[in-house]
Amino acid sequence: MKNIAVIGAGIVGICSAYFLKKSGFNVTLIDREDPGTMTSFGHACSFADYANVPVNYPGLIWDIPKMLLRKDGPLAVDFFYILKNLPWALSFLKNCKKEKVDEIASSLTNLLKHSQLSYDEIFKDIDVQEYISDEENLYLFDTKKSFEDYEYANIIRKNNRVKVRNLTKNEVKELEPNIADVYYAGQVFTGSRHTTNPLAISTKIFEKFLEIGGIYIKQNVKNIFQNENSIELFLEDKKINFDKVIISAGAWSNQIANMLGDKFPLDTERGYHILFETNEKLINRPVAWSESGFYLIQIHNGIRAAGTVEIAGLTKPSNKKRLEMIERQSRKVLPQLGDIKSTWMGRRPTLPDSLPIIGKSKQNNNVIYAFGHQHVGWTLGAVTGKIIDSLSKDQVPNIDITAYSPSRF
Ligand SMILES: Cc1cc2nc3c(=O)[nH]c(=O)nc-3n(C[C@H](O)[C@H](O)[C@H](O)COP(=O)(O)OP(=O)(O)OC[C@H]3O[C@@H](n4cnc5c(N)ncnc54)[C@H](O)[C@@H]3O)c2cc1C
Repeated sequence: MKNIAVIGAGIVGICSAYFLKKSGFNVTLIDREDPGTMTSFGHACSFADYANVPVNYPGLIWDIPKMLLRKDGPLAVDFFYILKNLPWALSFLKNCKKEKVDEIASSLTNLLKHSQLSYDEIFKDIDVQEYISDEENLYLFDTKKSFEDYEYANIIRKNNRVKVRNLTKNEVKELEPNIADVYYAGQVFTGSRHTTNPLAISTKIFEKFLEIGGIYIKQNVKNIFQNENSIELFLEDKKINFDKVIISAGAWSNQIANMLGDKFPLDTERGYHILFETNEKLINRPVAWSESGFYLIQIHNGIRAAGTVEIAGLTKPSNKKRLEMIERQSRKVLPQLGDIKSTWMGRRPTLPDSLPIIGKSKQNNNVIYAFGHQHVGWTLGAVTGKIIDSLSKDQVPNIDITAYSPSRF
């Protein structure tokens, strides 16, 4: 059986390694960190199969100045960084044309609608029920204007048969009585579910992978060479040859692709979370706050406020002002929140068209990419793993993956 390396043990790499191992490949998962502890650790916990509306939207360019001027808005930009990376920003804006946005939304829906089934295939072997809740996600609009402006998203969802229910203020109050009286209305994403402990789910899938014979190496991948019949990985203290390599290194994937001569316009949308102490159950479901672009989620060890977007690259340290903003706004929505237990910054891997790259390298058929899942990587981990498994067997996946092709750039 073929030897396959999976580089990157975030949710995408863990699920890919799991499906490959189940298919009988000899699989080695490699990460310089512990599995599931980077971007896949600190997110907003939603299995967001409704999230088919890309961040790119028609008219975004005109809204950016307003967004940046808003003290507590969802977006922050490091202008020096953007100037250095202008081609990415311009390409992102090009994907805001209406026809393009409709195309992206339909391609995202194509993956999202298979996301739950693919996870359930894993969850029938691994019991994670205690970490999953079926209480549907709630989006809170801060003003009538934000509610009305959201109509474009409602149309995109309707066109792709994604169901939502609008709620009046009183209906929201019935669902979530502890939320302060600061909102105009709400919307529920029908049938959505979330986790109360993402790391526990990643760890359980990873442990099952080891149990069925998978290998894990905790080392940095420093270089890759293509030999005639194999691919050689240079780790910290050894070199290993593999028949195939899967690159699922999230926001760092382009660094590895570059070693092989591939180049992708991958950037990162940084996001933050704050974990607040709480001794009681304050909310039943993830509650998104439109004014500032984050979710409040009651998880196993407190309430996590997670989200927002910052364009500032991979290496800059975390921005205290963003965390202060999230704290201020979280306490406005849920004044009962306790002290801060911890804070976190993560890096969403994002391509300018908000679609992931899933497919074989142009340079080498035995290198397969799986990265760039932006705001929905937690949701798409399992379905991506299934596709990677089919591609590794040289089979045609049962989902049309043309839109995610590495050759589109
Ligand atoms: C604030 C926030 C909220 C979010 N909310 C949600 C949500 O509610 N629902 C949702 O679906 N998604 C959400 N996301 C997005 C989601 O978290 C990401 O898309 C997803 O975690 C990406 O997973 P990944 O496996 O691609 O990357 P990662 O989890 O980042 O894993 C990549 C791994 O590659 C490793 N690596 C990189 N380079 C090397 C190397 N050279 N050698 C060895 N190892 C290497 C890293 O150490 C890392 O462990 C959110 C993201 C953020 C930041």
